[in-house]
Amino acid sequence: MLIVIQHKQGTLSSVKNMDNVELVFLGTGGGRFATITQKRRTGGIRLISKTLNIHVDPGPGALIYSLEAGLNPQKIKAVLISHRHPDHYSNAEILVEAMTKGMLKKRGIVAAPSNILLGNKETGPAISTYHQQMIEQTITLKPGSNFEVGNTNIVSTQTRHTDPETVGFRFQIPEIGDIGYTADTEYFEGIENEYKGVRILIISVMRPLGSPWTGHMTPKEAIKIVDAVKPEMAVATHFGMKMIYSGPNYEIKHIEEKTGVPTIAAFDGMRLRIGEKIRIGKTKRNNQGSMEDFVKR
Ligand SMILES: [Zn+2]
Ligand SMILES: [Zn+2]
Repeated sequence: MLIVIQHKQGTLSSVKNMDNVELVFLGTGGGRFATITQKRRTGGIRLISKTLNIHVDPGPGALIYSLEAGLNPQKIKAVLISHRHPDHYSNAEILVEAMTKGMLKKRGIVAAPSNILLGNKETGPAISTYHQQMIEQTITLKPGSNFEVGNTNIVSTQTRHTDPETVGFRFQIPEIGDIGYTADTEYFEGIENEYKGVRILIISVMRPLGSPWTGHMTPKEAIKIVDAVKPEMAVATHFGMKMIYSGPNYEIKHIEEKTGVPTIAAFDGMRLRIGEKIRIGKTKRNNQGSMEDFVKR
């Protein structure tokens, strides 16, 4: 499968060295039952370029599907966690072990809200202090926080979710422009302002049409955001059980129909290669190649 979306002329006139950022969807499921059953995987998203190797939201399966896709977790430079729900953080410690070369080298960045790093009244930290002491830089996120990973500025965006500390992300990548990720949120007035000007908007659409749920979106609310932001491409992900049974391709089609913005329902193992054009490809299972090949990635 190959879909190519042409970059709008003139909006990124200073961009050089295009075609070198890749997003790999190691999971497209969300919510308790999609996670428990693994009807869709919940490994999160890997963002890779020559200078970046970031894992976003390492839910259950992050380690396994990373290895299966041939993406060496020891190359990760930063782990970003949007909030303290298990489909977003469960594999964080094991990725920290990979990132720190088996806890032997103080290395890498973990950026997450305070309830992940410190815990709160109801919870302890989601990453142990033992693991945190080997992370080179821990960053506590709030909406509006700015931090850098390699050459990329990352802004934490606002959400409205059942975990009130949840943040989304806006990646400002010099080579290719901006990518937005809403994380888990319901629609609220002004959410579109967080993502104006992004080329790709990754949007969590957990529920099907006619089945709204507090803290989440159906295609109806996603349409409002996509229509206001008008990215080059919208990518819907984080499908819950009801959405999976209704059929994400069918449900997500409404977003493109109403907004005119090319919109896809992400699938497990999907790769988006982003340069001047956006190409959609598929990860081959057990794509590890030779051991030598694997170590180089
Ligand atoms: Zn979730
Ligand atoms: Zn959540």
